Amino acid sequence: MKDVHQIHAQMIVTGFIHHTPSLTKLISHSLSADPTSLTYACMVFNHIHQPNIVIWNTIIRGFVDHSFPKVAILGYVEMLQESKIIPDRITFPSLLKGCAQLLAFNEGKILHGQIVRLDLDSDLYIQTTLVKMYAACGDLNSARIVFEKMGTQKNQVAWTTMISGYARNHYPKEALILFNEMEKEGLEPDEVTMVSVLSACGDLKDLDYGKNLHFHIDESGMKVCVVLGTALLDMYAKCGELDLARHVFDALPERNVVAWSAMVSGYSQNNCGEEALRLFKEMVFETNQKPNEITILAVISACAQSGDLNLGRWIHAYISKAQLNPSISLQNSLIDMYSKCGQIDVAHRIFYGMPEKDIVSWNTMINGLALHGLGVQALDQFSIMLMSGIRPDDITFIGVLSACSHAGLVLEGRQQYQNMRRIYGIVPKLEHYGCMVDLLSRAGLLQEAENFIQEMPMEPNGAIWGALLSACRVYNNVEFGKKAAKRLLDIEPDNDGVYVLLSNIFAGQKQWAEARKVRSLMHERGIRKMPGCSSIVVDGIAHEFLVGDRSHPESENIYLMLNHVIQRLKSAGYAVETSEVLLNIDEEEKEDSVSQHSEKLAICFGLMKTMPGTEMLIMKNLRVCGDCHSAIKYISKVFQREIIVRDRSRFHHFKDGSCSCRDYW
Ligand code: ZN
Ligand code: ZN
Repeated sequence: MKDVHQIHAQMIVTGFIHHTPSLTKLISHSLSADPTSLTYACMVFNHIHQPNIVIWNTIIRGFVDHSFPKVAILGYVEMLQESKIIPDRITFPSLLKGCAQLLAFNEGKILHGQIVRLDLDSDLYIQTTLVKMYAACGDLNSARIVFEKMGTQKNQVAWTTMISGYARNHYPKEALILFNEMEKEGLEPDEVTMVSVLSACGDLKDLDYGKNLHFHIDESGMKVCVVLGTALLDMYAKCGELDLARHVFDALPERNVVAWSAMVSGYSQNNCGEEALRLFKEMVFETNQKPNEITILAVISACAQSGDLNLGRWIHAYISKAQLNPSISLQNSLIDMYSKCGQIDVAHRIFYGMPEKDIVSWNTMINGLALHGLGVQALDQFSIMLMSGIRPDDITFIGVLSACSHAGLVLEGRQQYQNMRRIYGIVPKLEHYGCMVDLLSRAGLLQEAENFIQEMPMEPNGAIWGALLSACRVYNNVEFGKKAAKRLLDIEPDNDGVYVLLSNIFAGQKQWAEARKVRSLMHERGIRKMPGCSSIVVDGIAHEFLVGDRSHPESENIYLMLNHVIQRLKSAGYAVETSEVLLNIDEEEKEDSVSQHSEKLAICFGLMKTMPGTEMLIMKNLRVCGDCHSAIKYISKVFQREIIVRDRSRFHHFKDGSCSCRDYW
């Protein structure tokens, strides 16, 4: 700026200040990244008596290029109204660029009208920036109309703009179709186009197309820099090909935070929570990369999936320590993580502390309470939400209805279902029907649940018949059980759970022959029961156990502990409940297989490895069986431990010999 000031002074002395080309140079050079330069350029400009179009164009472009698009547009208005100067083909591209920056769609359209009136709409440069402006504002139709008008004049920039416009606004199909056309024209895609097309492939989960592009990139010798590499790995991750994604990631010449985030999110979104966490730890502790919000969101969701509360807490502390101003979505994901890791109280505290909440915050909180069986609290929260003037959406009602279902609030559930349709005009989706069937069946209203299914306007899915079937197991109802199982197998012939439940229903009624028939049918069809699997995180490492698992290095001690635990429970009054065991084997054998259920093994390991009094969190892939449920209640009392079990459908908080589900699950 110092030099600019000196030159300015000399120009005044020598009279060059009246020489337009020098003056425009002075203005464009004085506009720099320095914020004071804006005022300076304005001052120079204001001293010019009747600036001509060249000077106007310079100052307008300067403002846009230095991210003051609003000033540029206001200046343009002044130019038209006060100076009565007619804009030319140089004026518009800067203004359109400014509109794109501001997402000022209406102003952009007005400019387009002026361009047509001035007969400048066949200018290649103007057309390209028009396409850019419309694409940035999300009006792909208008962008396409301008693009098509360019005819054979279309250049590389126009193609890239149009293709990435489609990709960025989530029209992946259109992006790929246009990309094909571009290749037919014989144009070589550049890096920007490639990145857009890869993202379109990811959105469409079109792995074949994506692999072709990868091949094309390798063939053409295009350099796989960080940006292109990240787009590649992101495409593979979205297609579920994590190994290929990782391969690209490992081969990157350098990795920035965007690349790391893409890989961590890839794992997290494909339900590979543990891989996501491992990579995140490597990123933070070994490479000293600073995570950004995208990384943190991915990691929090991975913690929620794998139930890694310790790392979740660490991230939370990290956010506070780094004094990142947590966005609403970051806080929402913390609420989700804490409630999925069994810490509903902490989730609640964060929720209360949020200065601003959006609908997702409310939905996450209500759904979290529902998962924990805290039906009444969930409904209270829902009333507060309504009183705050927030309109519930379909996801809110999934939370509300499942809260009623988990807490056995049949009347309330029916009422809310009616309200959802009548007051809020929300058309029930499959999930809502699922909640209602679940609500009715859990309450033992099997006939009503079946009627409800018959009256659904759409085909019921497996989950809906599954809800009825599970209830039939609880109420030992063979008649409805058979019906539900048949319908469920029509939809999901390979669902191992159906066979298991049905044979359990027969076994519960001591119809051993029928139960065995189901088992052998399952065997004939080559379907195997998904083994129960439970995990517990001790010192940051997840330990997994299957039924009767002896693969753990400390297996011997775990089984000794198990025996000890069962003896102590028995002397406290616990009796092994064997009705959940399928076959007509003798009682002792049944007792053995029940007592080796995976959650019991995980809890025994937890008892060995954690300090007395420490709370334990167990994750289970299937529903907890009746015997484990009763055993864990006894353990919580005899060993004075709070135990939280997250099974396939909800949370159980065991404390002092009882469970938060009040034996209703
Ligand atoms: Zn069990
Ligand atoms: Zn329970």
